[in-house]
Amino acid sequence: MSSLQTPVNVPVWVDYDRCKACDICVDVCPSGTLAMRFDKSSINGKIIDIINPNSCIGCNNCELSCPDFAIHVADRKEFKFAKLTKEAKEMAAKIKENKYMVL
Ligand code: SF4
Ligand code: SF4
Repeated sequence: MSSLQTPVNVPVWVDYDRCKACDICVDVCPSGTLAMRFDKSSINGKIIDIINPNSCIGCNNCELSCPDFAIHVADRKEFKFAKLTKEAKEMAAKIKENKYMVL
């Protein structure tokens, strides 16, 4: 069981104790909200980061795809998500081209 508290007024959040830095959530995110950052102290030398929270469209792809139940998306009743823009799609494509790392 995770002891993670549900944060208030954020679209998406990570339980870093569970995250294995596998890149899957970054791969399925259509909006460039997520990317990996280098982090020497973390498993695989990198950590997931929520780099563009204002771009999150609340699609739940990340939460549904995470094999470790480490990433969570706010309830639509509690958070007003963004609409998917051309710029956000381009950001997602660039992050994927950059091997899931933040630009
Ligand atoms: S899919 Fe889950 S375990 Fe993998 S990087 Fe994302 S949050 Fe971490
Ligand atoms: S809910 Fe969708 S848009 Fe938001 S971070 Fe997860 S995959 Fe990306």
